[in-house]
Amino acid sequence: MRNAQDPNCLFCKIVKGEIPSKIVYEDEKCVAFHDIDPQAPTHFLVIPKVHIGSCGEIDGSNSLVVSRCFEVISKVTREMGVTDFRVVSNCGAQAGQSVPHLHFHVLAGRDMTWPPG
Ligand code: AMP
Ligand code: ZN
Repeated sequence: MRNAQDPNCLFCKIVKGEIPSKIVYEDEKCVAFHDIDPQAPTHFLVIPKVHIGSCGEIDGSNSLVVSRCFEVISKVTREMGVTDFRVVSNCGAQAGQSVPHLHFHVLAGRDMTWPPG
């Protein structure tokens, strides 16, 4: 199955609890956890539990979980009282992706610059 979990994937291991993480939200489809190397006072990641490599692998067969991720982003930021934030998903090495499991960075708590580096 194309979107099965990848036993060698770091974030699949976090989903399975094989690697500890500071989870801020979890449901049957998604997990949100604090980034281990925060780039802002608030920095957490939202991921689908299924293994999708990046934004470049989203299609009609798996896009429902992507909208769920954005519902989670909205819910978690609201519950944190965070109103101003940035959502980033790096796709591919040149864009800065280091973990090949789809994830959305949520960054907040400091001024952001544009364009991003
Ligand atoms: P990217 O470089 O866009 O692929 O983002 C991957 C993110 O995962 C980076 O911001 C890392 O700091 C973060 N990261 C890597 N390993 C862990 C981990 N074990 N727990 C939480 N975040 C992690
Ligand atoms: Zn994975």
